[in-house]
Amino acid sequence: MKIKTSEIVMSAVSPKQYPEGILPEIAFVGRSNVGKSSTINTLLCRKKLARISSSPGKTRTINFYLINEEFYLVDLPGYGYAKVSKDERASWGKIIETYLSTRSNLHEVILLVDIRHQPTKDDQLMYDWIKHYGFGRIVVATKSDKISRSQTHKQFKVIREKLKMAPEDIILPISSLKKEGIDQLWGALTNFFIQ
Ligand code: GDP
Repeated sequence: MKIKTSEIVMSAVSPKQYPEGILPEIAFVGRSNVGKSSTINTLLCRKKLARISSSPGKTRTINFYLINEEFYLVDLPGYGYAKVSKDERASWGKIIETYLSTRSNLHEVILLVDIRHQPTKDDQLMYDWIKHYGFGRIVVATKSDKISRSQTHKQFKVIREKLKMAPEDIILPISSLKKEGIDQLWGALTNFFIQ
C-alpha cells in the first residue's frame, strides 16, 4: 500500500462526532498497551500520528485516520487497563459497542493481541462481540520480535483456541520495532476490504 496522505480527522466519543460520508472504515481494537498505536504508526510510516502511550489506558476516544482520502483506519480505545474505575470501564464498553453496532460503513474490525500471552477474558469477550457483529477475519499478533519462530507457532495455536477462531480466519504476526509483517497486513487488508 502506498500511503500518499494520512491525517487524523476526528477524535470522537459519540456518533454525532463520527466523520460524515461513506468511505470504508477498518477499526483496530485491543488491550491497552498491546501495541495498537505503534502498529497504526508503522502501517502509516508515521512516527507519532497515533499516540504511543507512556501511561497506558489513556485514550478514551475513537480516533479516525483518513488514508489517501480513500478510507479510514479507526483506533478504538484500548481496554483492560487495571487502574480505571468501574464507571470508566462501562463508558468504554458503551463507546465501543455503539460504534460497532451502528456504523454502516465499517468493513472490518481487527483484534490485536500480544503474541507472548494467552488472550485474556476481555480479548475473548471482544472477539465474541466482533464476530457477533459479523467481523473478525484477521487477528494481529503484536510484538513478534519478542519470541522465536518456533514459539510463534505454539502461540498461534493458543491464540486460535482461546479466541475460538474459525480455520479460515488468519493470524498475522507484526513487529513495529523491526517493521516486520507490515506488508502482509496491508496485503490482507487490501485483499479483503479495500478496493
Ligand atoms: P497501545 O496502548 O496499544 O497503543 O500500545 P503502544 O503502541 O503505546 O505500545 C505499548 C508499548 O509496547 C510501548 O512501550 C511500545 O514501545 C511497545 N511496543 C509496541 N510495539 C512493539 C513491538 O513491535 N515490539 C516491541 N518489542 N515493543 C513494542
